Amino acid sequence: MLSSTRDLLETARRNVYAIGAFNIYNQEGVRAVVTAAETLQSPAMLQIHPGSLKYGGSGLVALCLEAARSSSVPIAVHLDHSTSASAIQQALTGGILSIMADGSPFPYSENLAFTREMTKLAHSHGATVEAEIGRISGTEDGWTVEEKEALMTDPDQAAEFVAATKVDFLAVTIGNVHGEYRSQPRLDFPRLAAIRKSVDVPLVLHGASGLPPQMIDKSIELGVSKFNVNTEVRQAYVQSLKFELSATKTPDLVDLMNSGIEAMQKVICEKLQLFGSAGKAHLHQSPYAEMLAIKRGQGRQGGQRKQGRQRSY
Ligand SMILES: [Zn+2]
Repeated sequence: MLSSTRDLLETARRNVYAIGAFNIYNQEGVRAVVTAAETLQSPAMLQIHPGSLKYGGSGLVALCLEAARSSSVPIAVHLDHSTSASAIQQALTGGILSIMADGSPFPYSENLAFTREMTKLAHSHGATVEAEIGRISGTEDGWTVEEKEALMTDPDQAAEFVAATKVDFLAVTIGNVHGEYRSQPRLDFPRLAAIRKSVDVPLVLHGASGLPPQMIDKSIELGVSKFNVNTEVRQAYVQSLKFELSATKTPDLVDLMNSGIEAMQKVICEKLQLFGSAGKAHLHQSPYAEMLAIKRGQGRQGGQRKQGRQRSY
């Protein structure tokens, strides 16, 4: 069933697990995510990166929405990392009710203005917004410790940013990187704990490919409700294609595509287990879950941040 990101993240937060959000590029990716989620009775998210949106257009959006609607488990569809108002408008018009307005490449004041404006637009469509402060780097190479810290999310600034923009979810930078971790990942957990204390929205961690299980567990314990996974799934797909193509000179295309789906599905299943969402689909399927999610969202949009309602971790 097509679910809202708010329901998925708020229910996950209440029950101390996290939602896996997987970048998809084509029908094979969509099928891999939905089949993995159904096999494990888990909620999940289909994410479209702006590059994929440009390539796949409204057909890709419709494919994701239809796959979510006809799935037996809760699936949300999300626009990932968008720095463009027109791409956000295109996604909203196409029926995607969950977007990431990514102003993090801009200076803080521009990020704040862009995010505020996009949040107003998205909320007018009934959509939810994820935004980011701090800057997730593509690689750890070449950065000094001081430079890395300067790029990380500041807990006080996070509180100010969430209050000023009214975003629904916040992506944090605590040492996580996009792509492959070239050395042992190091996440700043005291910083994550401080951010958790200063804001009352579900937190998102990008760059979950390659994070060891204990770091995933600790992140969930400290309030992360959504992990973005792209690299590992994409690599599994490409490796499978390479293998199949080297094994036979005249591959059957359907067999080739099915091998790709299986390879991606295996990685996605591992992640859903790691994130603790396997077997949790039923928690999202009661009217009570949706009702609680809406109530909390309304409370925040009305500016009623109540310290007493925050969870203690
Ligand atoms: Zn990301």
